[in-house]
Amino acid sequence: MSPVPEQTRPEDPLGPLTDLPGIGPARARALGRLGVGSQRDLLFLLPGGVRAWPAPTPVLEALESPAGGGLVRVRGRIVSLRRVRFGGRRSMVRATLEDGSGRLDAVWFNQPWRAEQLAQGEEVELAGCVVETRSGPALSTPRIGRRDRPLPAPGSVEPAYPGTEGLSGESVGRLCRDLAERHADGLAEHLPDALLTELDLPALPSAVRSAHLPTSLGAFEAARRRLALEPLLAVQARIHERRAGRGGGRARAARVSDELDAELLARFPFILTRGQRRVARELRRDLQRRVPMQRLLQGDVGTGKTALALYAAMLVVESDGQVAIMAPTELLVEQHFYGSRALMAGAGIEVELLTGSIPRDERAYQLERLARGELQVVFGTHVLFSGDVRFARLDLVVVDEQQRFGVDQRSALAGKGDDVHLLLLTATPIPRTLALTVYGDLEVSTLREAPPGRGSIATRWLRERGDVKAVSRFLAERLEAGEQVYWVCPRIGRTEGVRGTAAAVRRYEQALESELATYGVELVHGRMPAEERAQRLERFRRGEVGMLVATTVIEVGVDVPNATVMVIENAERLGLAQLHQLRGRVGRGAADSHCFLIGDAQAGERFRLLEGTVDGFELAEADLALRGMGDLAGVRQSGANLEGLADAERDVDLVIAARDLMKAHPELRARYLARGGARSRTP
Ligand code: ADP
Ligand code: MG
Repeated sequence: MSPVPEQTRPEDPLGPLTDLPGIGPARARALGRLGVGSQRDLLFLLPGGVRAWPAPTPVLEALESPAGGGLVRVRGRIVSLRRVRFGGRRSMVRATLEDGSGRLDAVWFNQPWRAEQLAQGEEVELAGCVVETRSGPALSTPRIGRRDRPLPAPGSVEPAYPGTEGLSGESVGRLCRDLAERHADGLAEHLPDALLTELDLPALPSAVRSAHLPTSLGAFEAARRRLALEPLLAVQARIHERRAGRGGGRARAARVSDELDAELLARFPFILTRGQRRVARELRRDLQRRVPMQRLLQGDVGTGKTALALYAAMLVVESDGQVAIMAPTELLVEQHFYGSRALMAGAGIEVELLTGSIPRDERAYQLERLARGELQVVFGTHVLFSGDVRFARLDLVVVDEQQRFGVDQRSALAGKGDDVHLLLLTATPIPRTLALTVYGDLEVSTLREAPPGRGSIATRWLRERGDVKAVSRFLAERLEAGEQVYWVCPRIGRTEGVRGTAAAVRRYEQALESELATYGVELVHGRMPAEERAQRLERFRRGEVGMLVATTVIEVGVDVPNATVMVIENAERLGLAQLHQLRGRVGRGAADSHCFLIGDAQAGERFRLLEGTVDGFELAEADLALRGMGDLAGVRQSGANLEGLADAERDVDLVIAARDLMKAHPELRARYLARGGARSRTP
């Protein structure tokens, strides 16, 4: 890269993280896991979500607030206070609050000190979300406000930050606010005024301030967009360089003889389909070149994309490179890891798992092995690209279910493409314009057909709750025949909240008391420790239990060919693409499968589409017609983010603006290239 003239070097008056009070090496490492490597990164870290404080409502109204709705705030007197022990360290504090209109319970789990914080007869304010408990609706883990320490005023806005082991979201927030107060005003804005006006964006100093100390939701959203633009600019600068031929051709070329290739293909426990072999040839050709591969492999659920990712990984490993395989959820990462360990081990390849819930010591050890090049393939969530992860020789990045990642995460990945091959897997085709703007360029491979010998999937929409009984009988029959079943209770809202989990727990308990219990019932949801979840799933996979009750954590990637029935409750809460993904968990073996959708008529159109076809591309088109482009491209934010912040596609205008800007302004380009990606929150 040509040297950057002095006057365009990025200003960085901010020191390393450890200069901050209270930040030692351990906390700096914890911040590294959030992708924060410097004070500047911290300043640019975007909160994972934001909420506006509501005004207090009468209890009567709170009781009627919709299931899984937002924050509810009530004011009244504590009329009863109980502490319940469940054994072990598990406990619950339950308080009852009364105002003129009625009574409402509040519960805190495993926070026994709450009982001391409250007193019977005391006047307080409580704010939390209403959940369904065994004894009716209750506020879940509400925050407590008193006269001397009131809750934030109605209408005030409060950002929420991602936390990590050893560092809570609140601590991260304090650090950010403090830095913003001291340094935001000193930041320089380099973007032209005209552009900021055109995109309706605040200048950097006020954006950084409003991101951490917002005065309104509107101010926060504008700030979010300005900060989201930063990494996009860095990526577009690099894409521009690459296109201009300056940054290109720097990836390592794998060396693959025909013999080796045949040997790799023979390692799979099945014969690759014709379509898979075609894609394998495309991958081999790409990986043998020095131009970094940028390939999207699209294929419907169950078409066998994983095998191709593993093939590419083995190719690269045979040429002494390292491979990172990234997936959007821990569950999926675990599936890939456990599912491919045998294949990899058979080839003498060292593989490991790196997710947010790996114990710290273990993680440190694995990171060392990775940095020394002793690990060849690593599976992980987006934490794979947090600040402290270093590879000795990373040659290939595979991103599974790439549609689940947000635009800026995808951009950050695309930015990795300077010297690394990139393979993206998706079940949902992404719009061409997005591919062009985010990745600069993208070759596309398509798998059209599933491997042979699969049974059919019949889908039926059940309108009546009474039908549940009939379904249970059907389940018992299939279980008796030795097949397995999923029962899914969707989460509510964007995050897997307490309510979704509670519904699954309830269904699980019911199943345990029904005739189905004799076949073995297991439960998985997002709120249990990853290891526990993996073990339970493994029991199901090995066929030790017949029925798996789950939240939508099993939406992607779970692969148990012997499972032939799926029941989805409250299916109206899920989008077409998501229902299709879920349904893709069955129909993976030779036996015919069934999917039952239990849901309200409000979503009848979706259900009828699903009844009509199992073709994902057809459904994607129908989805497009039904809901517009946003959902097609899959817009959910992943991992660390809290309540859904940005619908990523909403920022496509920013991607396009970043591209145009980097094309037109060489001096800005030089600035962002020199900054090397101003990582902000992106991995
Ligand atoms: P997806 O494209 O949805 O990621 P997977 O890669 O999970 O699909 O593959 C689905 C299932 O098909 C897995 O059980 C996998 O082992 C199996 N499979 C993949 N390729 C073949 C093949 N050529 N022949 C038989 N089974 C295959
Ligand atoms: Mg898959």
